[in-house]
Amino acid sequence: FGKGKTSKDKANRATVENVLDPRTIKFLRALTKRGIISEFNGCISTGKEANVYHALAGENAGGTSGELAIKIYKTSILVFKDRERYVDGEFRFRNSRSQHNPRKMIKIWAEKEFRNLKRIYMSGVVPAPQPIEVKSNVLVMEFLDRGDGAPSPRLKDYLYKDELEIARYYYKILAYIRLLYQVCRLVHADLSEYNMVVHDSKIYIIDVSQSVEPQHPMSLDFLRMDIKNVNGYFEKLGIELFQERMIFQFVIAENLEGFAGDYRNADDLVEYLVEKLPVKTPTQGVDEDDIFRSLHLVRNLGGLEERDFDRFTDGKFDLLKSLIANDRERNASSQQEQERIGTSDESSGDDSDDEISEI
Ligand code: ADP
Ligand code: MG
Repeated sequence: FGKGKTSKDKANRATVENVLDPRTIKFLRALTKRGIISEFNGCISTGKEANVYHALAGENAGGTSGELAIKIYKTSILVFKDRERYVDGEFRFRNSRSQHNPRKMIKIWAEKEFRNLKRIYMSGVVPAPQPIEVKSNVLVMEFLDRGDGAPSPRLKDYLYKDELEIARYYYKILAYIRLLYQVCRLVHADLSEYNMVVHDSKIYIIDVSQSVEPQHPMSLDFLRMDIKNVNGYFEKLGIELFQERMIFQFVIAENLEGFAGDYRNADDLVEYLVEKLPVKTPTQGVDEDDIFRSLHLVRNLGGLEERDFDRFTDGKFDLLKSLIANDRERNASSQQEQERIGTSDESSGDDSDDEISEI
């Protein structure tokens, strides 16, 4: 990522412009005019739904390091079809009438990612890149860099210093899942070694467009999947794991029995985890996790479907059941509260076409 305007940059830009549609380019130009972006560079990542580019910050980009990551959602609609379930049933988007217009749908995704990122970043309890701007399908955020212009590695590509560090990251990620849930009120819903970046020796959470609030009818299933993914990744690295059911309980329990630390402090939560959570061994926790993975956790309007739980009469799942019941009550009352005081941060709801003049 050279800083000069070499012919290679121009070639880059030409390639870039080839894959970006004219509307997107207009938005980028407008961001440049406003002094958010000063120079648009090469592509860091090409994904199914979005590409991420590197850019240099303009004078109006805000308090960042001078480099930006620009995530541009592809305007082709096909891949977004199967993501509707994330927005369906999402309280914050329940009045959004744009769900069947593909271009507006993509705009909603970008806005959703921006809002989720902002919520995480502002919480100060879970590291995430600073969100800077969103306009239509273009999201501008802080660039997490390795120090030499290259992006910091995803957890998947990270070279651990030693076994101790592997375990430390595992615990930290579990604490972050809890903090996301309890403090940010979000379930990531696509958490994996691909969506965490190791930056400044810390785990940063990225890619939060599909994240949902606990009120979402599928939130507990997404949470269970996140935990399974994280455990699956660390299992391959050969460290001792906690039981997925126990991690799940650790995440959703508002109060932790015997916890004396700060509920917003990841290190305190890690200490608790290490001390209290039972590890999974070949003879312990495996069956329970199999059952746990098969439980029907979908929340319907009346609450949790409890038919599966009733199959287990040995009391092993009673705690889980009561935690889910408590969580449901808590979500129901916070939703009522949001509706009463009208603080839900849903999409502005204007269905007008956003024109460049608006930016
Ligand atoms: P996708 O939807 O394509 O998975 P992501 O948000 O996960 O999009 O971003 C794709 C990749 O781009 C990430 O795996 C990471 O390597 C890189 N990336 C994303 N955001 C940043 C950032 N703020 N700083 C540095 N690299 C980033
Ligand atoms: Mg990703």
